[in-house]
Amino acid sequence: MSEKIGIMGGTFDPIHYGHLLAAEECRRRLALDWVVFVPTGTPPHKKNRLVTPPEDRYAMTLLATAGVREFSVSRAEIDRNRPSHTVDTLREFLGEGQLFFITGLDALLGIDAWKDYLLLPNLCTLVTATRPGYSLAGLDAIPSAIRGSLEVVEIPQFAISSTEIRARAREGRGIRFLVPHLVENYIEYHGLYKNLEVPRT
Ligand code: ATP
Ligand code: MG
Repeated sequence: MSEKIGIMGGTFDPIHYGHLLAAEECRRRLALDWVVFVPTGTPPHKKNRLVTPPEDRYAMTLLATAGVREFSVSRAEIDRNRPSHTVDTLREFLGEGQLFFITGLDALLGIDAWKDYLLLPNLCTLVTATRPGYSLAGLDAIPSAIRGSLEVVEIPQFAISSTEIRARAREGRGIRFLVPHLVENYIEYHGLYKNLEVPRT
């Protein structure tokens, strides 16, 4: 029987316990064999701020998942020298097993902005983890083709975001216990998030 592979895309700037918890809860609930974290290369939806270089985000994702047998990290989007789109990534994984694309509810509610999003249910089962601040009622507004293929996984609500972690790091407010210890050390050692987020014009 083919393996069930979860794919968790994200900017992971930086990866935090909300990501790890969402991935693990979805893995357990749907009996996935693996979850592959796929950090974005050039994020198409985040052009309004400077994103940390892909190699730093990749390194932090590796540090956060090292030692978790069922988790791995893919360079698929980082090594693609074009904007990353979920549909292209899923096509790269076709043939590896039965695919489950995992998002948080906030990301899923914006799915109609993604390239070729109506093709996604043909490529994978869409899985969405609940996220504080986003109501399941919002799902009524998404296209029925998407809703029909969707698995909703309710997870313990962890009200943390990378945006909040960057702000805390910048202001010296501490990020311990919000990100894995090795990620905290990496951010400190490399002086990440020290500067203001300068919007791109
Ligand atoms: P940012 O604040 O920069 O947008 P983020 O915390 O939302 O960062 P992303 O890299 O944008 O992190 O998210 C990657 C995926 O993880 C998305 O599908 C997002 O919905 C999901 N996710 C992030 N944080 C949580 C959380 N606390 N609970 C559930 N899902 C989450
Ligand atoms: Mg986000």
